[in-house]
Amino acid sequence: MDDIVALAKRRGFIYPSSEIYGGIAGFWDYGPLGVELKRNLKNEWWKWAVQMRDDVVGLDASIIMNPKVWDASGHLSSFTDPLVECKICHKRFRADKEELLRAHEKEHNEIISWTEAKTFNLLTEVLLGVTEPKQVAYLRGEITQGVFVNFGNVVDSSRVKIPFGIAQIGKAFRNEITPGNFTFRSREFEQMELEYFIRPEEKEGERVFSYWKEERMAWYVGLGIAEEHVRFRDHEPHERAHYARSATDIEYNAPFGWSEFEGIHHRGDWDLSRHKLAYRDEETQEVFTPWVIETSGGVDRAALFFLIDSYCKEEKRTVLKLHPRLAPIKVAVFPLVNNKSDIGQKAQLVYTMLKPMFMTAWDDRGNIGKRYLSQDEAGTPWCVTIDYDTLDNDSVTVRDRDTTKQERVNISQLATYIHDKLAAHEK
Ligand code: ATP
Repeated sequence: MDDIVALAKRRGFIYPSSEIYGGIAGFWDYGPLGVELKRNLKNEWWKWAVQMRDDVVGLDASIIMNPKVWDASGHLSSFTDPLVECKICHKRFRADKEELLRAHEKEHNEIISWTEAKTFNLLTEVLLGVTEPKQVAYLRGEITQGVFVNFGNVVDSSRVKIPFGIAQIGKAFRNEITPGNFTFRSREFEQMELEYFIRPEEKEGERVFSYWKEERMAWYVGLGIAEEHVRFRDHEPHERAHYARSATDIEYNAPFGWSEFEGIHHRGDWDLSRHKLAYRDEETQEVFTPWVIETSGGVDRAALFFLIDSYCKEEKRTVLKLHPRLAPIKVAVFPLVNNKSDIGQKAQLVYTMLKPMFMTAWDDRGNIGKRYLSQDEAGTPWCVTIDYDTLDNDSVTVRDRDTTKQERVNISQLATYIHDKLAAHEK
């Protein structure tokens, strides 16, 4: 884990937020490579959830909503975590994280005692307006509610018919008691969620729940997470969120133990009935409250787990074997020698040709070997070198990140070559 945190900082994936002022617990900033990784993840997800489907539409709701939303949704009363404090060192823990409590007890040779568990609400308050008294509102604790309160708007303004889904990506905020494990548990994070509305029928609920479970697992594995590093974990009844009829987590075998990537929840009619919303079937004129199956993933957790899973320390290099479509930079262009102007100029032409199509990097520092190592660490799948032969026959070497093998490709074929390789990873 220390290696990942160090690489993330050194190469510009993730920095502590407001670091020059000592940071702030639970907040993180994404650097030049991190922002690309996150954008790629979100684009892949959006393409999978919306672009490629006929039954899902998108939405982008506001972060701050009328506080009545959180009252109706049950978050004001039930969006809580229990906290206990170690009476010896005053460290705080979530009372529901048994493994962490037991581990801490071992640190004190089992002679520990805990304070009574107290519950804390996770919603982050904000004050609106300029005159007193200011209006208390909340930064959304989950992006989901924005979808539910717009259910009627979407039905009325688009051509969706049950079963259908609404997809959304956006920031959520939680006053986590114990932010930690790098970005895993943050106070500000991004979610990517699909709310899928169905008829309120047991069999349909079970079918759709297992359909989305498999779809989501396939998405992670399809983008390169090793199958043996992920698993499903069904929630025990006592663990389920206040809205969930059943829930399964997709977990990743992180250096800090099996941890939640994404939750798949059967929310039943909890939310729509709390907001007093219903659906009219246009054909039958039947009115009912749909059930909702939700897939709720974290963009930051995904970014972290894809980084961890792709990290390889080999004898002579450190390489991020990120799926090419997730890789921040797709291709790097190197002139073999930087003092040879013909080669430099030719390389510039190749660079400006590729740049509008792919995230392209330019590197003319040091020797080619060092440039490869630098791109390997950034996860760049292809490096293109312009050399003396290029001046004769217009071909370049393309070096593959994972195999380190080189191929000669004609400049006129180069864009198609990269494009085909990226498309080859389409399912
Ligand atoms: P946990 O048990 O880890 O607190 P949760 O079950 O409360 O998580 P959900 O409410 O199901 O999480 O949220 C859906 C997804 O949002 C999670 O699977 C995770 O990817 C992401 N997420 C939730 N809380 C955080 C957080 N504090 N930091 C980063 N991502 C988060």
